[in-house]
Amino acid sequence: MAGLLMVVSGPSAAGKGTLCRQLVKETDVELSVSATTREPRPGEVHGVDYFFMTEEEFVKTIEEDGFLEHVENFGKRYGTLVSYVESKLSSGCDMILEIDVQGAAIIKERFPECILIFLLPPSLKALNERIIKRGTETPEKISQRLSKALEEIEHIVNYDYYIVNREISQAVEDMKCIIRAEHSRVTKNISEEIIKSFKEE
Ligand code: 5GP
Repeated sequence: MAGLLMVVSGPSAAGKGTLCRQLVKETDVELSVSATTREPRPGEVHGVDYFFMTEEEFVKTIEEDGFLEHVENFGKRYGTLVSYVESKLSSGCDMILEIDVQGAAIIKERFPECILIFLLPPSLKALNERIIKRGTETPEKISQRLSKALEEIEHIVNYDYYIVNREISQAVEDMKCIIRAEHSRVTKNISEEIIKSFKEE
């Protein structure tokens, strides 16, 4: 049976990275490896952290429609490879992608069976406190991030599930529940498979 493709989005500092890493640690779910044109940082490994590509290779892959979605950040390109995701899913592996609301919408269009999960901080006040605690942002940047968070939350209507991240261990358990429920979902293809295997056993 094919694996699940899950996309996690949510405001920065909502805890998406921590949630995805913890889920990968505790389950068989794999985090997708993106392609990028930026230089590898010390210790980064091709095929583990990213697939490092030249600009020419990246553009050729776009022309061949080889990305589920791609963006440009700080002058460098990043994208999710269709070939990588499809080969993992067809081998039965559940995949998780951490992508912003725009990228998630593109993936859903291209891959309607994917599951969109929105990670929410408990409140705007809590998000503000988390960003301040990180200590990396100026007051101006904090206020920009908060207004961006409010904009992003408007997109929750396009998502299949939401998780409120009060406590990371609980958020991971919620993810596991979603995965279990999705593996038990009856669709046309699966119902035929279930009936066939029921008759064979
Ligand atoms: P970094 O260069 O620090 O590894 O990543 C820079 C930014 O690119 C991060 O915000 C990261 O989430 C984003 N990013 C990495 N891979 C992808 C991808 O495949 N698609 C999109 N849309 N963003 C990505």
